[in-house]
Amino acid sequence: MSASAGYDYDDTRQLIARTVQEFARKEVAPGAGERDATSRFDYGLYRRLGELGVPGMLYPEEVGGTGAGTLAFCLAVEEISRVDMSLGWVLWVGAGGALSMVRGTGEQREAWMEPFILPMVRGEVVSGGAITEPDAGSDTAGAKARAVRQGDEWVINGSKIFISNAGLENCAFVSVLAKTEDGFGLFIVPTGTPGYTMGTPLKKMGLRSADTRELFFDDCRVPSYHLLGGAGSGRKQVVGSGFALTRVYLASQGVGVAAECLDLALERARTRVAFKRPIGEFQYIQGMLVDMYVELESSRMLRDKAARMHDQGERIVREAAVAKLFCTESAKRAADTAVQVFGGLGYMDETPVSRYYRDIRASTIAEGTSQIQKHIIARELGVMG
Ligand SMILES: Cc1cc2nc3c(=O)[nH]c(=O)nc-3n(C[C@H](O)[C@H](O)[C@H](O)COP(=O)(O)OP(=O)(O)OC[C@H]3O[C@@H](n4cnc5c(N)ncnc54)[C@H](O)[C@@H]3O)c2cc1C
Repeated sequence: MSASAGYDYDDTRQLIARTVQEFARKEVAPGAGERDATSRFDYGLYRRLGELGVPGMLYPEEVGGTGAGTLAFCLAVEEISRVDMSLGWVLWVGAGGALSMVRGTGEQREAWMEPFILPMVRGEVVSGGAITEPDAGSDTAGAKARAVRQGDEWVINGSKIFISNAGLENCAFVSVLAKTEDGFGLFIVPTGTPGYTMGTPLKKMGLRSADTRELFFDDCRVPSYHLLGGAGSGRKQVVGSGFALTRVYLASQGVGVAAECLDLALERARTRVAFKRPIGEFQYIQGMLVDMYVELESSRMLRDKAARMHDQGERIVREAAVAKLFCTESAKRAADTAVQVFGGLGYMDETPVSRYYRDIRASTIAEGTSQIQKHIIARELGVMG
């Protein structure tokens, strides 16, 4: 079914969605099951995303991007996630990390243009964001990692957990949230910096061809200009503007997974025969499919609203939380329903629905759990102290 009918995407956005969809179907889908089974990330596919200009959509022309914007990028994330949620995850986590560098000071832009900004725009490198700690997840203010200023350097100590992308061969740096005497700072730590090490890949329920690890900082020294956005502003950058944007990307993964689960379930309902008739003729099955469709339509509208508002320069803290909450929770239900419509086969790895069921589970946890999104929405509605 045409995903974009009635959604008023302009010609450029429709072309982007079609181009990425064609690439996803032809080049990403065929190996997605095998990459999941072997927990293998394919750097070549990420490079192809770079050639298609997908990371560059987030960046202005002055650094080689196209400035196509948030909604365009979300449509690309959605199409990739329809066939491989792991690759979609690596993409949205990894492609936007240099945006704060582009907006940085003259010294930062100059130092990071060649090694980080330009390669990220071209899709040669990705980054990670290191916020969560073993004892501080939802409660980011409880983070214990510390950064102490010594002369022209910051010295970072502490550990982070569940960090995406850091261990990938093309990860150039991580942005690390650490406590300073002024509050929290956000620090750029390039891969390979002495004192920065990482654990082996964590074994996960899903998203197996995306990388997730524990990171360790042991007297890790970075130059003073590696502090992003000014002293004491680190947590505000992360839980304010940063998370708002990444939540819309994660909502887009939900839209993609739900759309694919619906298409697969519809096809199965038409072709699987039980009691001498296609199972789609049973009202209980129809009810499940209808619920999936209504939730998918609602998801797309919420995601589009948040992305369009961001493209118009508006504050989207509430809209991003609403989109993230609804799109990921309903995608989780859609994957569960798809498994049910497929019956026993849905539980087997021969169909992608079992992979979607495992993969989407992470989306209601990362970038703030569903409970935290409700907390944010309540605060935005003014009903919390
Ligand atoms: C696949 C994956 C990738 C990830 N990638 C990254 C990454 O790249 N970088 C990064 O920094 N982190 C990453 N994370 C970590 C993720 O952001 C955290 O797991 C998440 O924020 C929840 O924190 P926690 O695991 O400590 O759970 P906790 O904070 O311990 O929460 C446990 C439960 O308590 C609930 N809870 C907590 N506080 C409240 C409250 N105030 N009100 C109601 N309920 C509450 C939560 O909703 C949850 O149900 C990733 C996680 C996953 C699964």
